[in-house]
Amino acid sequence: MRFSKSFVKTLKETPKEAEVTSHKLMLRAGMIKKLASGVYSFLPLGLRVLKKVENIVREEMNRAGAQELFLPVLQPAELWQESGRWTAMGPEMFRLKDRNERDFSLGPTHEEVIVDIVRSDLSSYKSLPLHLYQIQTKFRDERRPRFGLMRGREFLMKDSYSFHRDLDSLEEEFQKMYNTYSRIFERCGLKFRAVEADSGAIGGTGSKEFHVLAESGEDEILYCDGCDYASNVEAAISPAGTPPAEELLKPELTATPNAATIADLAAFLGIPAEKTVKAMLYRDMVTDERWMVLIRGDFEINEVKLKNVLGTLGVALLSDEEISAAGFVKGYTGPYAHEDNIRILADRSVPEIPNQITGGNRKDCHYVNVNYGRDYKADLIDDVRLVKAGDVCPRCGGVLKSARGIETGHIFKLKDKYTKPMNAVYLDENGETQTIIMGTYGIGVSRTMAAAIEQHNDGDGIIWPSVIAPYVVDVIPAKGTDAIQAALAERLYAAFNNAGIDAALDDRDERPGFKFKDADLIGFPFKVIAGKKAAEGIVELKIRRTGESMELPEGEVVEKVRELMSLY
Ligand code: ATP
Ligand code: MG
Repeated sequence: MRFSKSFVKTLKETPKEAEVTSHKLMLRAGMIKKLASGVYSFLPLGLRVLKKVENIVREEMNRAGAQELFLPVLQPAELWQESGRWTAMGPEMFRLKDRNERDFSLGPTHEEVIVDIVRSDLSSYKSLPLHLYQIQTKFRDERRPRFGLMRGREFLMKDSYSFHRDLDSLEEEFQKMYNTYSRIFERCGLKFRAVEADSGAIGGTGSKEFHVLAESGEDEILYCDGCDYASNVEAAISPAGTPPAEELLKPELTATPNAATIADLAAFLGIPAEKTVKAMLYRDMVTDERWMVLIRGDFEINEVKLKNVLGTLGVALLSDEEISAAGFVKGYTGPYAHEDNIRILADRSVPEIPNQITGGNRKDCHYVNVNYGRDYKADLIDDVRLVKAGDVCPRCGGVLKSARGIETGHIFKLKDKYTKPMNAVYLDENGETQTIIMGTYGIGVSRTMAAAIEQHNDGDGIIWPSVIAPYVVDVIPAKGTDAIQAALAERLYAAFNNAGIDAALDDRDERPGFKFKDADLIGFPFKVIAGKKAAEGIVELKIRRTGESMELPEGEVVEKVRELMSLY
């Protein structure tokens, strides 16, 4: 690329709309341009990075034995109605009608389309296992598109789907994909962590997310230093505790004026918050059923886990009016001595508390010495607690730590979630019909590009790892008007290109400082400068990441860069 003939537009000022580093730097470096909220054009420099990430993904998927195909973005509603997701996807799915008033969606994902292909073209066990993938634009009308490429409404994803005879075969492929994803993110030069993930509404069990570690990450990850347990906070399991032994006393109604919060209550009674039981009133957003959810006073409820335990797509806290209408008193709700008009779900922490303090179900009152089992019972007991850093590791008893991550990949054992309702079957050796077992695996290609910048930048701009840099080297004649420098730069530019190393040549008639600033902003891993010693055939090589600089004879610089590329 010759700067003088290229479409490269860098910005000095940071555009106001950008909140996170990757978004700011991609706009400033002229890699992307916004068209609408969550919708971006990839400009030439940005596209080169995207393609490099895409190629790493493609190479590794091919190496794992998956086959690439390309599925339509435009998808008829009938398929989505068959799987039940025409409704379940809600407002996140872009929908449109054709001229005959037929409903279509713009694909947010492709399980339905691929299952439709496989069910009509695959009949024998001999064709299994099979793994198909594509790299394609996805459309999702996100509630909060933000952070540039991080959460777009139109974005590039590698999505793949594997088909199996049984769960063992699925398990094997899942492990293979775990390794494949690890290789992909390693090759992209990223620090990442694979964690347990919420399997939520898509169903199935066993799902892992790959997170690129970065402060700006939208997700919180909990990990243990003592063992390899790591989980998205959404899915983190609460360890089972041991109940303290205590003599069980009789419940008593006690006045607790103005003690509607756990903190006020504990202070007023002079007891630790661990003795109290918090009761939250929820509505199942699908069935409209009401639930009283109980948890130890010093713990919080994890609504993702709650949703999964209730087997629903959404839960919402009751409003003040709804609480009164249901016959409860806000701040004084409890499971003991109330009208039997609501189902109770107790977190596992609750039955363990001897002589609990629970809401009095009348204003300014609580019960003390309530005991689970003897005085009240829940309809369900399960783990709905929000696990936090500092909590005990559910696997080894160590202490959990917290980090922030950007979810760049998700691998998922779907089993028969789609193949069953869509009747995708094969014939086994005995000629008997069996449901195909399925796995699904996604990588956010454009999000990975943004995540790479979040991990690799400094005050001057981006610091691309060589493997995904738009160009590995920027060749800069310090003084473009100097014929010797210009000629040397031309020779070097040609030498890099001949050696198969992607190079840019900044042949613009600009001051050296201006060109160096642009090079640092765009993030070329190496600058090769033809400057004062050009006449002696000496050039300067600068490493973007370390700031290190060295002088080399013209003839050695290509090999030196090749050597350094594996390090940076
Ligand atoms: P999130 O929780 O971030 O919304 P998701 O669970 O909806 O992600 P999947 O449906 O598993 O994501 O999609 C596979 C991958 O696609 C994700 O791991 C992520 O890297 C990427 N991805 C998902 N939504 C977006 C988006 N709006 N913009 C960019 N990339 C996305
Ligand atoms: Mg999403």
